Amino acid sequence: MSGDSSQLVGLDAGDPAGVNRRPLFGLDAEALAAQMVAAGEPPWRGRQLAEALYRQRIAELDAITTLPKPLRQRLAAEGWEVGRPQIAQVFRSVDGTERYLVQCQDAETVETVWMPEGDGGEAGDGSGQEIDDGDETGEAGKRRQRATICVSSQVGCAVNCQFCLTAKLGLQRNLTAGEIAGQVVTVFDRHGVEVGRDRMNLVFMGMGEPFLNYENFMAAVRLLVTEVGLSPQRMTVSTSGIVPGIERFAQEPPEVRPKLAISLNAPNDQIRSEIMPINRKWPIEAVMDAVRQLRLRSHERITFEYVLLDGVTDRPEHAVEVARLARKTGLPVKVNLIAWNPGPGIEYTMPQPEAVETFRQALAGEGIPTYVRRPRGRDIFAACGQLKRTVEG
Ligand code: SAH
Ligand code: SF4
Repeated sequence: MSGDSSQLVGLDAGDPAGVNRRPLFGLDAEALAAQMVAAGEPPWRGRQLAEALYRQRIAELDAITTLPKPLRQRLAAEGWEVGRPQIAQVFRSVDGTERYLVQCQDAETVETVWMPEGDGGEAGDGSGQEIDDGDETGEAGKRRQRATICVSSQVGCAVNCQFCLTAKLGLQRNLTAGEIAGQVVTVFDRHGVEVGRDRMNLVFMGMGEPFLNYENFMAAVRLLVTEVGLSPQRMTVSTSGIVPGIERFAQEPPEVRPKLAISLNAPNDQIRSEIMPINRKWPIEAVMDAVRQLRLRSHERITFEYVLLDGVTDRPEHAVEVARLARKTGLPVKVNLIAWNPGPGIEYTMPQPEAVETFRQALAGEGIPTYVRRPRGRDIFAACGQLKRTVEG
């Protein structure tokens, strides 16, 4: 990552007329080729650009030396730049988790989280886990890195779940495909990730509701799969239950479809409507009907995320209801339990550790694969539902 922040804000010095800045990052190979043709170049220049942006992770147009210098200059004069979002601030947790304030071209910021060794939530689903899992060292004898990156899809969120800090921001704006995929590439860069050697999981569980920014979200996934070279089986998208989004998602080809997680969070419609007002529009059964439209890959499971709120959703009888509900879906599911992470201005209470364990045992006892997500980076406000661009470390 470059520490240069001079290009983060305001107009580019090379853009005195105030011509719109045009980011290359975010365009797919086809769109890049079309731009090259428009610039009077052969279409294969688009492939060179795609390699530079997504494989070599070059962050400055002038450093893309596969393009002739005059062409780079011409593109710059037309307002083109790489335009990848950049890490503006890093918060590091005692547990190794890092939370980044990532700055977009217009100076808007979002958050991305790096969790070394994952958070436990991606375990237990056979799909994807067996891929290149072999030895711990790559060809060069360098130790493989393992991490999970939590990616944002919107600045803020419009969904208004009562327990979530991001909801307090309201929706500021959608992120573009380049801004979503750019978070990943920028974090890869920071950690020297080698695609193919290192085992990276992506979870689209940062700020925002991915299915309310569907086009950009899926365009980002396609870039990450096709250009960056990641497997969709190592990606999970979480939704609060946006039914039309789930239905569209079910139609995506398996080569580019991430795994699906549903933020269930409650044992029944009554409690769910209280803590997630969106449930009044799309109640549990409607969400499950939509989820049933997915054609699952072998070993693939649907994840139900379940936030445990003390006294509200963490009672043993709730566990029995969740198990019944999970069975009723007829789908292969697993449950990720998340002990609620506190945040300022939210009135809930963290569940007792014994309640979490009792809940887990009850579900597991009913035959539902159940995992407790380790809270990561709570001390730096990086844990689930804590992303609110908190600048205090
Ligand atoms: N908007 C999407 C994805 C981001 S939220 C969604 O809601 O699914 C990712 C997960 O964090 C969701 O399952 C959500 O229920 C959970 N979450 C939100 N606030 C939380 C909090 N304060 N503590 C623990 N989990 C929380
Ligand atoms: Fe939005 Fe997800 Fe938070 Fe609900 S839990 S407000 S959908 S980010």
